[in-house]
Amino acid sequence: MIPNNINELPTGSKIGILGGGQLGRMLVQAAKTLGYKTVILDPTPLSPAGQISDHQIIAEYSSTAAAKAMAHMCDVVTYEFENVDLQSVLAISEIVELHPSPEVLSIARDRNKEKTKLFSLNIPTPKFSAIETLNSLEKVTTELNFPFVLKTATSGYDGKGQVIVESKKNIVHAFELLHKKNSGLIAEEFIDFECELSVICARDKSGNIATFGPSENIHENHILDISIVPARIPEKIKSLAEDIAITIARELKVIGLIAVEMFLTKEGNLLVNELAPRPHNSGHYSIDACDTSQFTQLIRILTGKTLGKTESFSSAVMVNLLGDIWTQNSCPDWKKVTSEKGSHLHLYGKESPRPGRKMGHITVTSEDVVTALDKAIFIRKSLVE
Ligand code: AMP
Repeated sequence: MIPNNINELPTGSKIGILGGGQLGRMLVQAAKTLGYKTVILDPTPLSPAGQISDHQIIAEYSSTAAAKAMAHMCDVVTYEFENVDLQSVLAISEIVELHPSPEVLSIARDRNKEKTKLFSLNIPTPKFSAIETLNSLEKVTTELNFPFVLKTATSGYDGKGQVIVESKKNIVHAFELLHKKNSGLIAEEFIDFECELSVICARDKSGNIATFGPSENIHENHILDISIVPARIPEKIKSLAEDIAITIARELKVIGLIAVEMFLTKEGNLLVNELAPRPHNSGHYSIDACDTSQFTQLIRILTGKTLGKTESFSSAVMVNLLGDIWTQNSCPDWKKVTSEKGSHLHLYGKESPRPGRKMGHITVTSEDVVTALDKAIFIRKSLVE
């Protein structure tokens, strides 16, 4: 452990969070537990995080005036999603400490920059090519086989801004569909993966590192559906996944968290798909299964404390609760979750359930992962019966 000579922020100091969604909300909860105050910046009044924060500035992320006002109110600032305005982030970082750095954010929010950086670090990724024009997309078929994936370089999340290009005849349509979104594009090799994994790496101001996971992640319609910890993969692959995440956190000099999403190929290779320099949906299990959750860990880093222990003390399975399971007039019967031993309900305070909208999650802890998985799936299914 590198000695931590950082001055700790005293309790009562203010932590600013750009973004007021569920990640911001769980960060506020962790900050409050440790005695800190919070300020949220989010355009939506009563955002999930704003509801429980000491203060919410209601403004667009592109308002540098609002961002500067936030910076002047806070002792340190972070962000809960990548698509915040980079100019606002830069403006804040000129006034007050902001982590992870604007440079890390500018890499992670742009798939082309991200994959180019990973390539320069010798970190394996799916084969990719930056696409500027229809002509360059047509030419990419000399490097990538069908099907391949076309994605917007920025602003894509939960499968938004990506299409699978099955054959030559889909090229023009795919280009027109995504090119309109006013962002560069990236074409990527389609990976017929064995499973998806993520490791969340925490790095403090002195360079100490701790990891959460790897978590095994199952997606439905490109949205994370289930996270399983420990991942059901060989130990050798687990430590390789951790090493990859640690290398990335070190090389990017991340202060805070960075989630590294990976594909495990059928041949047993790991390829990095995406980076997220913030708490991650696949790390929610850590609230109920670890001494230090990913949210507490980030607050500890931001406030100059030493890192907490991240090992999980039980197996854990997290299932997301999407708006699909709400009916028009009522919410699910939560007793089915809360009456079960080892089952933990987390709701995000969102008023309007919509299909695909993340409304909450359940984490089931158990001594063994198979029991946790069966139980989590059973409980969630019972909510729609
Ligand atoms: P992303 O927005 O890049 O995280 O993609 C969301 C999900 O789409 C991933 O978690 C995968 O399930 C799937 N996906 C993305 N890129 C690829 C790819 N190159 N090959 C296969 N599946 C992919």
